[in-house]
Amino acid sequence: MFTTTAKFISLDGKLVPEDEARLHVLSPAVKYGLTVFEGICGYGDHTGENLNIFRLREHLVRLQQSMHIMRYDRSYTVEEMTEQVIEVVRANEVRDDCHIRLSAHILGTALMDATGPVALSCGAVNRPRRALDDKAVRASISSWARIDEKSMPPRVKVAANYHNGRLGEIQAKADGYDKAIFLTGAGKVAEGAGACLFMVRDGIPATPIATEGILESITRASILDIFADDLGMPATERVIDRTELYLAEEVFFCGSAYEVTPIVNVDGLDVGDGKIGPVTRAVWDTYQGAVRGESARRQDWLTAVYSQAAVAAK
Ligand code: PMP
Repeated sequence: MFTTTAKFISLDGKLVPEDEARLHVLSPAVKYGLTVFEGICGYGDHTGENLNIFRLREHLVRLQQSMHIMRYDRSYTVEEMTEQVIEVVRANEVRDDCHIRLSAHILGTALMDATGPVALSCGAVNRPRRALDDKAVRASISSWARIDEKSMPPRVKVAANYHNGRLGEIQAKADGYDKAIFLTGAGKVAEGAGACLFMVRDGIPATPIATEGILESITRASILDIFADDLGMPATERVIDRTELYLAEEVFFCGSAYEVTPIVNVDGLDVGDGKIGPVTRAVWDTYQGAVRGESARRQDWLTAVYSQAAVAAK
């Protein structure tokens, strides 16, 4: 999905050529997946010159929360991290859609209870633009339950959590589907492997509540705002049963990389008429307007990378 054309990666405060950005094989980051991270999207605007990063501050605050919950012995300010992200994007001269990966690793060679030393890395790679009609997927309910707070904190973006999603995705593909939907241990709908989920049932949009084993998704929060403010159809946050997905008119994934991804079939049953629905299209159009800087009310969701004030203002 992503093409790696980055020339530089920032690692521990220094810009280094991409193939020199290495971590020690004995570091907890490698041995135990002790890396917390954010996947952040940048969007080119209509001029072809500028790049806006979508909800950068919110991603950085969530990275701080991940470091806190995983008991890292140091953190970084939003300003320090903003500077690193902007430096990397500018160094790679990225001016069109991109995916930025900002990670905080536990280095050294200690064991699994290590809390440091902590180092940040950041890279940015180009990301192709895709039309909504090319994004529709068929999903299945995974036999792997979503991790929950009794074992691993789901609201944290720690690399180790992603083995849960990975196993579900591999299973879904082996079974002939595109994507997995995970249920909680109690059998209620949680989310996808790297995305949250909305359904529209009887005309009302709904999404699982934040304590149902989901990541506290920034796209989900943005879409809740879009439903309330732009589309005038407030969404509910509630517990959702598996079989409600079979009865819903529309279902879609949302996430930074997924953006809005229609789910047109669940477990072999068409969602609605099996085509992308009007509410999903309206959310997509509004979301695209926001990320591309065309929405007056959503300007504060964007950080303009090439404006002089980019670092100072945030
Ligand atoms: N759930 C999981 C497990 C994810 O990895 C992601 C992607 N970060 C999401 C949901 C969507 O979160 P966001 O909208 O903040 O990208």
